[in-house]
Amino acid sequence: MPDDHSKPPHATDGQGFATRVTHVSRPSVRSHGFVNHGVHRGSTVLYPSCAARGTINDASFDKHALTYGTAGGPTHFALEDAIAEVEGGTRCMIVGTGLAACAVPLLAYLKAGDHCLIPDTVYSPTRRLADGMMAGWGIETTYYDPTIDAEGLRALMRPNTKVLYTESPGSHTFELQDIDALAEVAHAAGAKVLMDNTWGIHHYQPFQHGVDVSIQALTKYVGGHSDVLLGSITVNNDEDFHAIAAAGRYMGHYASPDDCWLALRGLRTMAVRLKHQEQAGLEVARWFEGRPEVLRVLHPALPSHPQNALFKRDFTGACSLFGVVFQPRYSTAQIDAVVDGLKLFGIGASWGGFESLALPTTNYVSRTATSADRLGGPTVRFHIGLEDTADLIADIAAGLDTLPR
Ligand SMILES: *Cc1c(COP(=O)(O)O)cnc(C)c1O
Repeated sequence: MPDDHSKPPHATDGQGFATRVTHVSRPSVRSHGFVNHGVHRGSTVLYPSCAARGTINDASFDKHALTYGTAGGPTHFALEDAIAEVEGGTRCMIVGTGLAACAVPLLAYLKAGDHCLIPDTVYSPTRRLADGMMAGWGIETTYYDPTIDAEGLRALMRPNTKVLYTESPGSHTFELQDIDALAEVAHAAGAKVLMDNTWGIHHYQPFQHGVDVSIQALTKYVGGHSDVLLGSITVNNDEDFHAIAAAGRYMGHYASPDDCWLALRGLRTMAVRLKHQEQAGLEVARWFEGRPEVLRVLHPALPSHPQNALFKRDFTGACSLFGVVFQPRYSTAQIDAVVDGLKLFGIGASWGGFESLALPTTNYVSRTATSADRLGGPTVRFHIGLEDTADLIADIAAGLDTLPR
């Protein structure tokens, strides 16, 4: 069958982000001239002879090696290559959820008797893994203030500290971490630096700041349509890839090729969506700052954020997820009633889709090393979608106008 309809794959070096996500991992041959990859489903991989099968080493984790379905197929490989490009790493492994992408590297680098440092502001299911299974297996975790400096971190390092886990900005409260400074301390002590980079996506390039393993919930902006769950683990060298792959594959982690295909589809429009959502998010966040009902807005890109200088140093942009702390004179019930009354905002977890969301977070913030009370009032996390911003603002304004002054 003729396979050579298309020009060879495009070189994407040095081009802009939108150009790169439009062209990365596109099929050159084997797609019969179509723009997109097919969905390759499969368990068994067939070989022409016993001798050919004998040359396959499942444990060498060779790039794009077709060995068995669990090691992935062409649809997985296309997404893995695309995410590695977005993250600026060399190799990526796709797993079934963002949470699996958090869990696999933790379990890859930690064993009984080891110590792990996790920011107090970590995505809460990651905290549950550390406090549950990891603790049960004799892996000790210390939660640290995400805004800790190098000296503070050095004081927390122990001889058996094997992992510094990071997430910047922090879940719900949006504190930033100076990863460069922290990674230097961790590496000097022989620990790996893991980062949940879901908020930063391509606006934060983890491997330029000393991160060894970058985690993404592709469920968010890459999927972009609230219809797929998927995670990625990206690294910057073969040794780390082997560690990740050994943990992930030996535990049977896998993702459906249909979901990988949806993520590739989402990725093609992600640059445009993100650009719009960044601007829309900032517009709504700034509008909130002007409202008398609001105590403060938790958005790293705003000059009012205490670490805005660090944001400007490290990030090239923002996504559209931020927090709003209302004045303490309002009760959580009053703010819940405002959220209940919003017409354009769904109430629910997750984010990164085309639709706007509002989620009261006051009672969901679990902190042990720092105090959640410092928020100062009832808090709601907003995700700004692709609706007209003026309509979103009008919707929220109508809700806030119901509150007593
Ligand atoms: C959503 C999210 C995850 C988990 O992703 P799922 O695909 O929902 O499991 C992990 N980390 C962060 C920061 C997230 O926002």
